[in-house]
Amino acid sequence: MQDTTLIVKDSAGWKRQLSRAVRDPLELCRRLALDESLLPGAKGGHALFETCVPEAFLARITPADASDPLLRQVLPLSEETRAVSGFIDDPLEEAEQRPARGLIHKYHGRVLLIASPTCAVNCRYCFRRHFPYADNAPSRAQWLEALDYLRDDDSIREAIFSGGDPLAANDKQLAWLVDELEGIAHIKRLRIHTRLPVVIPDRVDDALLAWLSATRLQTVMVLHINHANEIDAAVVNACARLQKAGVTILNQSVILRGVNDSVAALEALSERLFEARILPYYLHVLDPVAGAAHFDVSDDEARELVDKLRERLPGFLMPRLVREIPGAPSKTPL
Ligand code: SF4
Repeated sequence: MQDTTLIVKDSAGWKRQLSRAVRDPLELCRRLALDESLLPGAKGGHALFETCVPEAFLARITPADASDPLLRQVLPLSEETRAVSGFIDDPLEEAEQRPARGLIHKYHGRVLLIASPTCAVNCRYCFRRHFPYADNAPSRAQWLEALDYLRDDDSIREAIFSGGDPLAANDKQLAWLVDELEGIAHIKRLRIHTRLPVVIPDRVDDALLAWLSATRLQTVMVLHINHANEIDAAVVNACARLQKAGVTILNQSVILRGVNDSVAALEALSERLFEARILPYYLHVLDPVAGAAHFDVSDDEARELVDKLRERLPGFLMPRLVREIPGAPSKTPL
């Protein structure tokens, strides 16, 4: 177990780190001493979905190793520019599920709020890599309309901050949204899907903890971690601070070719998550988004891996293997 001494964080440090993230594929290749032959492909992928890698994440990547599992998640490749049958821009058909600007309503009892159109890292496999964020960035007046939708439907118990990465929004805006949600009696829970405490652990600063600690809503944070190497001492510390503020932390991963498509990698991930007191929640198979086909692991192979994983882990460290099927009333277990 890592040292989880709770260090007080000053605010705004994370914004500086975000503004200094590596956004040029040439710089990324140079910084990591990667073979120059990767550069043309990196530029091609970058033209379709820009590069973004914060320093704190870059520091966990082994230099001169093109197969590093963290690098594979963030380095654009020539494969992204190839059209592959069945891999499309909106694989989950979210365009059909937007009752108001900034909202996605897929499942009974919970609604997604697109709280930020940007991320702190651009993951090459992202199913929203083609999402029209510009059409879903509500003004304050439009947020009030979206909140009316939640107010008018008393079956909604849970608001989910999504994005982009919702924690890329500033705390003033997030605290305002939470305040509005607290005024809706039937909303009981706030769930936040984020990668920010992983890629920039300093995001878990005093300003974030202030509104998280103060809300009447039960708070759940779902981190997106795909490989054990993503969890260093700073991530463990950030999670400890969140837990101390009363936040339940879960993790969901995507099974990705060349990143975590082995029993050993998945086992190490669950073990490492639990060392940080994070419970594995979902293991998704890849959504068939255009530009990410090279990450695909078939459903049969994923099932086989999970069957073997079950022989090595206690039940509470087993993520549920699921696929998201557009129009289905929940995630579909595989
Ligand atoms: S942080 Fe999440 S939303 Fe942003 S690029 Fe990565 S997977 Fe996509």
